Amino acid sequence: MTLRIASCSCGQLTASTKAEPVRVSVCHCLACQRRTGSVFGAQARFPAASVTIEGTSKEFVRVADSGIRLKFRFCPECGATVHYVVEGQEDLFAIPIGAFADSSFPAPRFSVYENRMHSWVKIPSVEHKP
Ligand SMILES: [Zn+2]
Ligand SMILES: [Zn+2]
Repeated sequence: MTLRIASCSCGQLTASTKAEPVRVSVCHCLACQRRTGSVFGAQARFPAASVTIEGTSKEFVRVADSGIRLKFRFCPECGATVHYVVEGQEDLFAIPIGAFADSSFPAPRFSVYENRMHSWVKIPSVEHKP
C-alpha cells in the first residue's frame, strides 16, 4: 500500500491515506474554477475512515445547484483546501489531487460539467458528462 499525503501550501494541514481512491474525477463547473483558481477542479475520493487529518482547518460551506451542501476544509494560514465532504456522503473525503503534489497520481475516470469546460481543455479517455 502506498502512503499518500495531501498538504496545504504552508504544510500545517495534511490529509494522509494508504487507501486507493474510490473515484478520481475532474469538474469544470464555475464554482470549482473559483475555488481552485484553475480552469477545472481535479479531486479524488477516499473512504473517510482511511484518511487521517492533521492540523487546523476552517470550513466553508457552499450550497450546490442541487441544494446539497459541500463542506470545504481549508488552511486558515495559506488558504489551500485540503479536503471536503459532500452532504449525504460523509463516508467519503474528497481531496484535491494537486494537494498530493504527485505527478504519478491515478488519472481521472470521470469528467463532469463539461458544458462549462474551457474550449482549449482536452480530457482524454474518461466518462464525459455535460
Ligand atoms: Zn497552509
Ligand atoms: Zn465543480
